[in-house]
Amino acid sequence: MNILERESLLDELKTSNRNWDFIIIGGGATGLGIAVDASSRGYSTVLLEQADFAKATSGRSTKLVHGGVRYLQNGDIALVWEALHERGYLRKNAPHLVKNQRFIIGNYKWWEKPFYTIGLTLYDLLAGTMSLGRSKPMSRKDVIKSIPQIVRKHLKGGVVYHDGQFDDSRLAMNLMQTAREHGALVVNHTGVIKLLKDAGGQVCGVVAEDKISGGSFSLEGKCIINATGIFVDSIIQMDDPGKKPLVRPSQGVHLVVDKSFLGGDDAIMIPKTSDGRVMFGVPWHNRVILGTTDVPVKEFVLEPKAMNEEVEFILETAGRYLTKKPERKDVLCVFAGLRPLAAPKSNSDGTKTKEISRSHKLLASPSGLVTITGGKWTTYRRMAEDTVNMSLKTKGLAFRRCLTRDLKIHGCLEHPDRNDHMYIYGTDREKIIRLQEEKREYGEKLHPDLEFTIGEVVWAVRKEMARTVDDVLARRVRILYLDARLSIAVAPKVASIMAAELGKDKGWEQQQINDYTEMAQAYIL
Ligand SMILES: Cc1cc2nc3c(=O)[nH]c(=O)nc-3n(C[C@H](O)[C@H](O)[C@H](O)COP(=O)(O)OP(=O)(O)OC[C@H]3O[C@@H](n4cnc5c(N)ncnc54)[C@H](O)[C@@H]3O)c2cc1C
Repeated sequence: MNILERESLLDELKTSNRNWDFIIIGGGATGLGIAVDASSRGYSTVLLEQADFAKATSGRSTKLVHGGVRYLQNGDIALVWEALHERGYLRKNAPHLVKNQRFIIGNYKWWEKPFYTIGLTLYDLLAGTMSLGRSKPMSRKDVIKSIPQIVRKHLKGGVVYHDGQFDDSRLAMNLMQTAREHGALVVNHTGVIKLLKDAGGQVCGVVAEDKISGGSFSLEGKCIINATGIFVDSIIQMDDPGKKPLVRPSQGVHLVVDKSFLGGDDAIMIPKTSDGRVMFGVPWHNRVILGTTDVPVKEFVLEPKAMNEEVEFILETAGRYLTKKPERKDVLCVFAGLRPLAAPKSNSDGTKTKEISRSHKLLASPSGLVTITGGKWTTYRRMAEDTVNMSLKTKGLAFRRCLTRDLKIHGCLEHPDRNDHMYIYGTDREKIIRLQEEKREYGEKLHPDLEFTIGEVVWAVRKEMARTVDDVLARRVRILYLDARLSIAVAPKVASIMAAELGKDKGWEQQQINDYTEMAQAYIL
């Protein structure tokens, strides 16, 4: 990859005159997974993302690679079985990003220990050889040792189970790089504004707009995939104006607090909140993520905002289980994401979103546009396999076998040193260290209270297509999510490093600082 990779990829796209096998719209988990799948099978592939990779839902998850204990409670065995197996493939192919995490359920009633031990043993059995470890009952003493801050009054014991835990937007970057390594042309900040159709009414290309330097261009392709998450209906409308909406968004909010609120390395799982959901407190990059909520919303936006009731609900629920009760002033970041739930046809408006299916929905329109939505980060690989298979059939392309079950994801490294914050880069860590050795200032920290370096920003621009301060702080180094206030404080420095890399002037720097500051305010309580 050269320094301005995004720009040279765009030039290649504009001048290539090819009829691509696959044009994928959307660079979240789903679209990136499809780009990896199609390109690794040898199909010529393009992916266009209107904002940044994982800017929407895929950067705002609970960061779990899981079968979904909640879906087991609901009796959705097939969904859990599939997700547990996908969890296993992802852990094998991206071990630098997916870690085996212990989750503790504290028991306050006599029947809870046998009940959850049996349920979670079934969870382990469904994972089969892909199990991450056996679920076990725990004594009261061991629960307190694992979660030092757990409320002790009436605590009888607990159950421990294992699931996967990851960094969502970092995985998105590595999927982008994996697709690139297999020849896919993947670009961010380039949105699809129109679909092209041939004389027979079949969709045969797209018109795209470069959101950074302006201007539009068209591309021809055989399989056009709509993988735009909560935005799928806007692409469906381009294909068939007047078509009924497919997606009902549901908002989920998380709060990030200091790790001392749990007091250890294990996660806590609250199996039944007052609204009948589960809630997690999960250690993540030396902090704890608390969440989430599930509230139907009407707006389809890139920057959803947490509602006061959601924040209060999380604080109140966490406060019932933790002796060090988090308060508003303790919140380092609040973030909201929108689930692209595929609404079943029979749903009336009053249906609670947590009851809507979490499995994915895949359909081909009469014009040949293939739309994929719903699902989970955990199952992105399987969703991609299904999508590519269906597209090949729809368009009559020669079938080539899916390879992604055993395909290593960019950066793949067994047993990374998780005490070093740069473990998230996997095999790229060594290259960033070499970059830092090239120029002394690259090794300097962005801020005395943060571990991240100037070199990481340079790397993000050169190798990970970061083009805005938001791209760097929210999804490459994640400072926005770890401490939103601090992220605003380092924005000027990041803007100046980026300006030097990208050849931008002071006006650009100031605009970036203003845009970032305005956006990041919404992540502060
Ligand atoms: C609160 C919450 C917690 C979750 N937690 C978990 C979890 O712990 N584990 C798990 O497995 N799953 C979890 N999920 C589910 C998971 O995050 C989603 O299923 C997944 O990220 C969806 O990915 P996607 O690519 O379909 O959508 P998105 O990530 O939204 O990507 C769609 C992309 O399409 C782009 N786009 C839109 N229109 C256009 C256009 N015209 N041209 C080009 N690009 C366009 C958007 O900018 C966006 O980047 C969670 C979801 C939520 C909301």
